[in-house]
Amino acid sequence: MIRKYGLYIDGRYVEPLSGRRLPSVNPYTGEVWAEVPDAGAEDVELAVAAARRAYRETWSQTSGVARAALMLKLASLIESSADRMSTIESSDNGKIVRETHSQMKWVGRQLRFFAGYADKLFGQHIPLDQRDTLDYVVHEPYGVVGLITAWNSPLALLANKLAPALATGNCVVVKPSEHASVSTLEFAALVEEAGFPKGVFNVVTGGVEAGRALVDAQGVAKVSFTGSPGVGREIAAAAGRRLVPVTLELGGKSPNIIFDDANLDKAVVGALAGIFGATGQTCVAGSRLLVQRGVYDEVVARVSRRAAEIRMGNPLDHATEMGTVANEPQFRRILAAIEEARASGARLVTGGRRATGPGLESGYFIEPTVFADVRNESRLAQEEIFGPVLAIIPFDTEAEAIAMANDSRFGLAAGIWSNDISRVLRVSRAVQAGSVWVNTYRALAAQAPFGGFKESGIGRERGEAGLLEYLTTKNVMIDFSDAERDPFAIKN
Ligand code: NAD
Repeated sequence: MIRKYGLYIDGRYVEPLSGRRLPSVNPYTGEVWAEVPDAGAEDVELAVAAARRAYRETWSQTSGVARAALMLKLASLIESSADRMSTIESSDNGKIVRETHSQMKWVGRQLRFFAGYADKLFGQHIPLDQRDTLDYVVHEPYGVVGLITAWNSPLALLANKLAPALATGNCVVVKPSEHASVSTLEFAALVEEAGFPKGVFNVVTGGVEAGRALVDAQGVAKVSFTGSPGVGREIAAAAGRRLVPVTLELGGKSPNIIFDDANLDKAVVGALAGIFGATGQTCVAGSRLLVQRGVYDEVVARVSRRAAEIRMGNPLDHATEMGTVANEPQFRRILAAIEEARASGARLVTGGRRATGPGLESGYFIEPTVFADVRNESRLAQEEIFGPVLAIIPFDTEAEAIAMANDSRFGLAAGIWSNDISRVLRVSRAVQAGSVWVNTYRALAAQAPFGGFKESGIGRERGEAGLLEYLTTKNVMIDFSDAERDPFAIKN
């Protein structure tokens, strides 16, 4: 039976005023399994109005310790619902349940980490030159923030934004991707069960129209977006027209660099994790594997051999290693990028086609694909594919590796595989990336800041840097002298 959902506005599931609905297709079965509202601008306006009301009437008067208690309750609820919620998310985006399950725990971890800040948003006393003036700084929430997420990890991406937004006292309107909205709508029921006041958390589902309406809504004081660089640019421009701040988490073409002296067993696993984890549909995908000449042939052989053995199948089966691509447009885009790479002369070592075989008939499966001897200037090495397609590039010297790593418009992540401490320090300083992993890859922590250099984004999520994205700074200056001042000269 097809599940039907409403928008979640002001503490209730409601039918969209737009009257439109969107199908949610399970990318493994190819069948419609749920229907979600396709919100229009008037629906978004209602959600923003509810959030503003909640901010004014309740949330801005809720103490930090009370906000933390609600967040901790929500953390417990998502953790105890991890089985159900991961099944829902995997049914929506085809990602293996092994990963979505751990992502539900990650949502709890983020809520717990940021809940710890909610009653510790300390200001600062600033000693001035003038001894008869008291000056202090307080950090204040923006009010209502708009959170827009991508389809690859709906709840994990939401947690990066929601946890600091709630901890700092903001109300939110969330717009998940039209390709995978159900887990976010189900999450709303957990928010309600945790006891959050109505209107603090709202969800509008839909596509571009709903996203644009949220960015343009007068009541939205800040926008945080995770998605593609093209849409990020459009959102930054729209927010710029209203002069509201944005946090942008965008794409990447991250270099994963293996030096001759690396522990190759670890490095090969790291290379696989970097590109075939999440079917390559991850912003931090290590999609450019730079390998030093001395170990090049061995790495190409070992990575390709294991890639060809990756077990594809039902995302809900814990034995499955790689699930489907999340939706049909993405499936077509990836196959087209593979064809283009092939036509350009890149050496295809393994994969390169739609995956077929028992259990794969109806799903959007793509073979784990490895191209070797790729040139760093080629489109295959420069454009984000967001799928299980690896470009392996040889290099000779450390300087050459650094130059190639940085010859990209992106700068989200980089991996370094080496046991030479001096080299590790040199290269990690030289690479232009927001996250540098050494002898590991695709490893995350709630405490560690994450975000992009260059076209990979603006601002940071997670860690203390992620908290500050949801606060604005107010300085208060109190003159307690009785002295008269010159009204025509600035006082300093
Ligand atoms: P997308 O940009 O197509 O869509 C993202 C969201 O924006 C969706 O909710 C969509 O409905 C909405 N949207 C689309 N057009 C809009 C507009 N004009 N105004 C407002 N909202 C709009 O991205 P996607 O295809 O869902 O996700 C894949 C991309 O996300 C990849 O580029 C990937 O690298 C990136 N990503 C980045 C991170 C990160 O943390 N840096 C994490 C995951 C994914």
